[in-house]
Amino acid sequence: MRAIYLYNPLVVEINYGSSHPFRLERLWLTEYLCRQLGLFAADDCVRSFEQAERGDLEAAHEAGFLDALEIAEHGLLGPGMMRYGLGSGDNPIFPGLWDYALYTAGGSLAAADLLLEGAAERVFHPGGGLHHALRGRASGFCYVNDVALAIHRMLAAEKRVLYFDVDAHHGDGVQEAFLDLSRVLTISIHQDGRTLFPGTGFVNDVGVGQGEGYSVNVPLLPHMSDEEYLRVCDEIVTPLVTAFQPDLIVTELGADALVGDPLTNLELTLEGWWAILERVVSWGIPWMAVGGGGYEMANAMRAWSLAWAAMLEQKPGHEMPPPPERLPGAAASMDWPEDLWAPIAPRSGPRPDGDVISAVIQQVRSQVFPYHGLAV
Ligand SMILES: [Zn+2]
Repeated sequence: MRAIYLYNPLVVEINYGSSHPFRLERLWLTEYLCRQLGLFAADDCVRSFEQAERGDLEAAHEAGFLDALEIAEHGLLGPGMMRYGLGSGDNPIFPGLWDYALYTAGGSLAAADLLLEGAAERVFHPGGGLHHALRGRASGFCYVNDVALAIHRMLAAEKRVLYFDVDAHHGDGVQEAFLDLSRVLTISIHQDGRTLFPGTGFVNDVGVGQGEGYSVNVPLLPHMSDEEYLRVCDEIVTPLVTAFQPDLIVTELGADALVGDPLTNLELTLEGWWAILERVVSWGIPWMAVGGGGYEMANAMRAWSLAWAAMLEQKPGHEMPPPPERLPGAAASMDWPEDLWAPIAPRSGPRPDGDVISAVIQQVRSQVFPYHGLAV
């Protein structure tokens, strides 16, 4: 089983702004941790990638929006940019923005190409996963939807694609991109939109036209944890994967559902995270993974290192390597965890009653299972 990890150190130089929660330092930290854990031992398993070209981005984005992004490269707010969601607190304009967009897209397109060419069966691009970007609008820290671009490329190669999003936020941009298609099944598990950005992704949001039944949304309440995620995997996701029979799987592995994330209220542990990844491995389908959210750096670097370890099917022990001599940028102030698996914070509230998740699961099954010939 050949696996490839995509990393370009130039991306780590990009900065959304000193107070912005989306930190590219996470990519440096993950690369460091994987290397220290001995997870890069296989020959040629870490590769760099090039920028995408503007023409590549047009598969998922409007020309006017791309023009605005290109102008934003110099960090200056141009006329009409707010119309494209640019220049807000969430989606600031900063020097190198266009370069960053091209790199992010380039990494995820490279991942798709490696799978399509058969050069690897598993590819991880932790710098991707910008799942909120819309056709004509930046949203939720996301400028270019690298995931949608990668899936468009897979569709062009006539593949059936399962998109599975475990970021704490609803994968709205990717869902929207394929809302009316039955060749892409999108499944998003996320914190209920009544309590978290982007405020969408409800149970009855199932797709339109030919795509009806091919958008699946599982909203979780604050403080839900491993047990709920694994029940959703076993009672919703795995049956759908079996019925849909995708050629390729794309997972968005935002690490912001982990306990201690400053922006969300879900309380997944890294043991639960690993158990989800084991489910994906067990499906035995060529697999591309991208990163995404994750606003606690110690969580993101450990979760993504474990994602790479899962691709290799090598479960690491508890021992954490020592920190590097100098942590980059905003990571300089982080607390280096002592244990690879231990939660960085205690739970912040009691888990909802077990009946609550049972009801959500039943609602999702009754909404979408009939489209797939599955018994509710
Ligand atoms: Zn997120």
